[in-house]
Parts: sequence; C-alpha cells; structure tokens
Amino acid sequence: MDIRCSADKQQGMSGNATARDSQMETLKNEIENCRKCGLCKTRNRVIFGEGNPNAEIMLIGEAPGGDEDRTGRPFIGRSGQLLDRILAACGFNREQHVFISNIVRCRPPGNRVPAEQEVRSCIPYLFRQIALVDPKIIIPMGATALKQLTEDKSLRITRVRGQWLSWNNRLLMPVYHPAALLRNPGLKKDTWEDYKKVIYRYRQLVDAHHHSDHA
Ligand code: URA
Repeated sequence: MDIRCSADKQQGMSGNATARDSQMETLKNEIENCRKCGLCKTRNRVIFGEGNPNAEIMLIGEAPGGDEDRTGRPFIGRSGQLLDRILAACGFNREQHVFISNIVRCRPPGNRVPAEQEVRSCIPYLFRQIALVDPKIIIPMGATALKQLTEDKSLRITRVRGQWLSWNNRLLMPVYHPAALLRNPGLKKDTWEDYKKVIYRYRQLVDAHHHSDHA
C-alpha cells in the first residue's frame, strides 16, 4: 500500500501544499463522477469527506446514510450529531482538527453494510485521501472501518477498541461507531476513555497546549 510517511505539516504555505490542494481537487472530481460499482445507480450524492485537509486526525466511518446522501456531507444525521458532541468534549472541531471520511462514498440501499466488491472499488480513494491529508492519528469508527482499512478481517472492534495500533507508519485508535453508542448508550463510557487517549496523544504529537474542558 502506497502510504507516504508523515510529511512536515509546517509546509502549509509552500508549493507542496498547493500541489496537495490540486491533487485533492482531482480526487474530489474523480470520486464525484465515480461509477465503479452499483451504488452509483441508487445514490443521490457522493460524499467526499470534510474537515481540515491538513488535519492530524482522520476519522473514518463505514458508509453514508440517508441524511448524508441527501446533503453530500459525512456524519450529519444522529450519529454525526453525537460525533460532533464527542469531538467538542475533546476540544476538537471539524473545521480545524479533523478530517472525516468513509470506507465507501455512496449510500448502500437500506443502510446495509457495504458489499466486499463495493469496498474494493471505493477504498483506493480512501487510501489516496489518507496519503494527501497525511494525519498522524486515524480513528476507524466501528468494525467495518477497522477491518476494511487494515485489511485484517480477524480484528474485532470489541477487543481492540481503545488500543493504539500501528498501520503504515500511522497510529490507529479504533473506537465504536457512534451509531453503536446510540443503540447501546452503555458503550459511551468506554468510548470516552478511548477519545481521552487521543487527546493525550494529540498533546504529545501536535499541540502540547490543546485544551479540552473534560480531559
Ligand atoms: N455513518 C457512517 O458510517 N458514515 C456517515 O457518513 C454517516 C453515518
């Protein structure tokens, strides 16, 4: 997998940043016109992702749902609202600290789990997006994101959530998907412990003065 090593984000104002912006634009155009799998027939919108393209944290979900399909934005339904509350508790927001993406970019009908062939068609876009954003920390949310991103189907979210994993020179912190927290609020306590680990690591790696009201 061609994921380049962490580059210096201080290059923000340099030609590299401009080159990256234009590669991101190219990727966006490709994704928005994609017809590689059957999901293109039922989608209304393609969801590219959103956030800071220079973010050091990338959050990855499974697939857009109905609200996302209507608006073209990731995680804006009930799961997304919960995610925003978790991020706010961490002192993070979409504009500044994170980039949010998904394993597949189009809504699977009925919100089913994306089929293997749909994932195989779509995931190269995610790998390119990760290389461009170049985050230090990746947070796969839920079992699908964890297994498909790592290509390790033996990983169980219930076993590895809250543990730092290393993947292609990046740190992974697997967490439960926010939809799982909505279904089972008992998982929120563990999830907050997981996000606290992200806050502490963010202070070590990115901003020693990062503020959270809660950790
Ligand atoms: N669930 C996901 O996994 N992704 C979204 O964008 C929305 C809900």
